[in-house]
Amino acid sequence: MIEKKRTASFSRRKFLQNLTVSGLAVGAGGMTGAAASTRRPDGSGGKARNILFFVSDGMNIGTLQMTAAFRSLTGGKPLAWLGLYDERPPGFTRALMDTASANSPVTDSSAAGSAWGGGTRVNNRSLNIDPRGRAHEPILVKAKRTGRKTGLVSTARITHATPASFAANTDSRDDEDGIAAQYLERGINLLIGGGNEHFDPARREDGRDMYAAYREAGYTVVRHRDMLAKAAAAGTPLLAVFGDSHLPYEIDRLHTPELRARVPSLATMTTRAIRALTRSGNGFVLQVEGARVDHGAHANDFAATIHDQLAFDDAVRAGLEFAAGRDDTLVIVTTDHGTGGAQLNGRGPAYSTTGEHFRKVLQYRASYEAFLRGLPLEIGPELFHRSLAAHLGFELPEDLTGTLAERLTNERTRTGSHGSGTWTLGGALRLPLLHETGVGWTSHGHTGDYVELAAHGPGAEAVTPFIRNDELHHVLTGALGITA
Ligand SMILES: [Zn+2]
Repeated sequence: MIEKKRTASFSRRKFLQNLTVSGLAVGAGGMTGAAASTRRPDGSGGKARNILFFVSDGMNIGTLQMTAAFRSLTGGKPLAWLGLYDERPPGFTRALMDTASANSPVTDSSAAGSAWGGGTRVNNRSLNIDPRGRAHEPILVKAKRTGRKTGLVSTARITHATPASFAANTDSRDDEDGIAAQYLERGINLLIGGGNEHFDPARREDGRDMYAAYREAGYTVVRHRDMLAKAAAAGTPLLAVFGDSHLPYEIDRLHTPELRARVPSLATMTTRAIRALTRSGNGFVLQVEGARVDHGAHANDFAATIHDQLAFDDAVRAGLEFAAGRDDTLVIVTTDHGTGGAQLNGRGPAYSTTGEHFRKVLQYRASYEAFLRGLPLEIGPELFHRSLAAHLGFELPEDLTGTLAERLTNERTRTGSHGSGTWTLGGALRLPLLHETGVGWTSHGHTGDYVELAAHGPGAEAVTPFIRNDELHHVLTGALGITA
């Protein structure tokens, strides 16, 4: 036992040394519970004081591999997620996860999140209501009863399926107005993301002013990046909403000064959330979602997908830095399902020119969404041909770009995350891009492949090498000492 302990503390030291503390480090408030007992005032047990649950929405393993390859081409730090596999900090476990839902081998985000959140597989589009109509209490509601603070951070509307799966019950994920009200009723302590349209009285169907309702309940309401640090330092409850719908793709945020000034990165939101949740209380459970990895993959948009995965990884790094300074935090890093079937495909004789082809992705400076938004509504074939060549870095045959320009002009909406011009563009470019870059996609939909899961910290030992998504809920409740 002693030997084991020594090995563990050595690994921890090594792990700490390898985590360079960047500007993302959590402030002093985050360290107050470092040596605290895991016994809570209400007498409940539990091995973990805190849980940090990171979910990259819609991440095929090919997305993770291409993100790592992209990062090594740009010369940045290796991915924090994969760094966990090198370091294997104390309590490190790794699993393949079966992501099926109650009614399909291919899940959507609401059913996948509900499996984790409520412990039961539900039909796609449902949130913690099973096929027999029974409601299952989500993890944040359970965690609140133990005296812990609860939080949700997402680059989607904060009322979107994945964050909602930890806190809401409804048979339709589309009832986002209702989900905004449920968060308030259930006293979720911290919400950071997009989704103004479900809080603003002028946008909600019932005309209710949710900002006023949250303020009345004591929440600090933040609408601009500038206000977040101060609000987070003051603690919870906190509601921060930075966009009308989903937050911008990271690649567009990075290249648009106005967006960068107004919208924080996912890593910043995560760091602020941890700061606020550790300000007081008996630990916390926080879900952090890199939501737009899924949206980029639906559109088969490499640049959007990979930059959002990088932003997600930066958030994971911030979480690991927090957890590395203490032994009371369970960290889980995973995805809910694959999307688009993203893979790097071998090119050239014996795949020898694959790297050369893949390098071509380095030049992308915008998502398909931003590219299309930058074009006039009536897209002339010549302008489109030239603009697309500038965007992609190579020319497509003129008959293809001509047809595409016509299709895009005829579509009522060209932008947006689902089923719009971005999908048309991504679908039409699937084969040319595969040929040029090696990046391939199988569809615009979700996929049924098993996904990767990494966990470390107290409670991680309950993760089995092959785990169903609904079993993960019991890992969470076990770590928190919740028996019922
Ligand atoms: Zn999706």
